[in-house]
Amino acid sequence: MLIPVEKIGPKGLELSLFLMVNQGRLTEGRTESPVHLKIKLRRKGKAIKAVGRVKGEIKLVCSRCAEEFPFRINSSFSLDLLPLESLTSGEVELEEKDMDTAFYRDGILDLDALTADQINLSIPMKPLCKSNCKGICPVCGANRNKVNCGHKPESRDPRFSQLKFLLEVKNGTA
Ligand SMILES: [Zn+2]
Ligand SMILES: [Zn+2]
Repeated sequence: MLIPVEKIGPKGLELSLFLMVNQGRLTEGRTESPVHLKIKLRRKGKAIKAVGRVKGEIKLVCSRCAEEFPFRINSSFSLDLLPLESLTSGEVELEEKDMDTAFYRDGILDLDALTADQINLSIPMKPLCKSNCKGICPVCGANRNKVNCGHKPESRDPRFSQLKFLLEVKNGTA
């Protein structure tokens, strides 16, 4: 959804809508269903304050077991939106602390792009289908969440076997 900045009147603009994020805008994952965007816009000249929340679900691939799983998005945001021209003209200098500054182009706010940005920011570096995902067996390649193939991950580090030996001595089992 595109919003001409001039349409944001003195009272601001509040929207609550479902939108289908274009797959191409996501850095990772897959969209299957629309996400919900709630947003409040306030304008001061060309500067816009956008506060809101994105809620929905996307599909991600687990970094351990490579299975696809549903990932909940529930991300609140508070952004300062400025015209892109102000950046290129040098009016605005961005510093690291200005992480919450975003830009709009040609006097138009692109809510789909804003929503996609929020989703992308929510995606973890290493997505996991569940915190205790057992991953894939390095011996046979089975998904250990589903199959108990019986292979034991072998410790090749001699320090561990020594430690094990010491523990066994201590416990009187060696
Ligand atoms: Zn997994
Ligand atoms: Zn195995």
